[in-house]
Amino acid sequence: MPVVAIIGRPNVGKSTLFNRLIGKRIALVDDRPGVTRDRREGEARVGDIEFVAVDTAGLEDASEDSLAGRMTAQTVSAIEGADIVLFMMDARVGVTPEDEHFANLVRRSGKPVVLVANKSEGKEGLAGAYDAFRLGLGDPIALSAEHGEGFADLHLALSEAL
Ligand code: GDP
Ligand code: MG
Repeated sequence: MPVVAIIGRPNVGKSTLFNRLIGKRIALVDDRPGVTRDRREGEARVGDIEFVAVDTAGLEDASEDSLAGRMTAQTVSAIEGADIVLFMMDARVGVTPEDEHFANLVRRSGKPVVLVANKSEGKEGLAGAYDAFRLGLGDPIALSAEHGEGFADLHLALSEAL
């Protein structure tokens, strides 16, 4: 099965999407010590597409000074192991310098990218989704992981990337 890594800065909604993608299936938590400690993976499905979804980051308990470096290392390792990178930003916040940092890691990898503007429900969300074009990772998919909106577009993008 192809591996899809969900990448992005904290709080954009990666785990919310991951949980929705794997549904009632069990998430396997990778508890190897070090940077991969908070990595979770599980068998996911969008329509008729089946893949292994990888959720990244967490690291809430990491000490401040090492946080950025460890998140970068974990993200790079997840990108390396992925067939497709699902890059997520927050449509309600718009593109931040931290988003640009993670986007650069994705761009450098040369992996196929599906760009997701999450929290796009409602008028303000949809307007904010247009800001994601600035990342230079292609056309954003307006998604609401929490409310289950935009999954037909996500299905189309994944089928094109696979
Ligand atoms: P992560 O740090 O990227 O894994 O983000 P989480 O999945 O933990 O979500 C961070 C916050 O965003 C939580 O409070 C979620 O409930 C909220 N959230 C996630 N998806 C959506 C969405 O589609 N719309 C809105 N409005 N909030 C969302
Ligand atoms: Mg999370």
